[in-house]
Amino acid sequence: MQLFFPSNFKCLFCNTDIADHEHQVYCNDCALAAPFNNGKRCKICDCTMEGDSEICDGCKDYRKYFDRAVAPMRYEGVAKSLILKLKNDNATYLAPDMARVMSERLRQENFSFDVIIPVPLSQKSLSKRKFNQSKLLADELAKIFAKPVDNHSLIKILETKHQKDLNLAQRKTNLKNAFKVVDKKAILGKNILLVDDVVTTGATANECSIVLKKYANKVYVVSFARNPLIF
Ligand SMILES: [Zn+2]
Ligand SMILES: [Zn+2]
Repeated sequence: MQLFFPSNFKCLFCNTDIADHEHQVYCNDCALAAPFNNGKRCKICDCTMEGDSEICDGCKDYRKYFDRAVAPMRYEGVAKSLILKLKNDNATYLAPDMARVMSERLRQENFSFDVIIPVPLSQKSLSKRKFNQSKLLADELAKIFAKPVDNHSLIKILETKHQKDLNLAQRKTNLKNAFKVVDKKAILGKNILLVDDVVTTGATANECSIVLKKYANKVYVVSFARNPLIF
């Protein structure tokens, strides 16, 4: 029976056994208790919001160059732990299940995209970390949606400080001109799905989108988690 019904599938969030991995990567308890980014959210950036408006104050005050940004999880609790594990403990085995959770949100949104582009790391960060966690997630999404990954057209040309170490004013200028499109033809007129592991200030997604939107048609952003608050 073990052969036909293996029970060694674990819930992505709490590690208990789950029977139906075909349809779920997390258990029923976590479906209710994990920090999903649900409830009323901004139609552009997916932040939690209240009131009658469709768009948050952050998106009204600061132009967003991407068309939409979505994240299935809030960057807190078990969702935050998973991202830190993936990034800092080389837990690359988490990427397929994390991408499955991202794909659930993408299917709800029904974005139509031609190509998947991971947010690039600078050469220096890449050699230090050995892998780009966003590329791992992009590769898994590519399998799920049967779309190509473009890992060369967008590059990071500046070594920037970590956004989390900066204040709000510094964050807004830190990433300026950090990204560059090196193959304009490859993205010309395309609808792009830009993939990041986590969106905290929105600055990275926005800076990438500024350069991509010079040539691309639409830029949709998906991350595993996001800061629930306004950018
Ligand atoms: Zn669970
Ligand atoms: Zn917004």
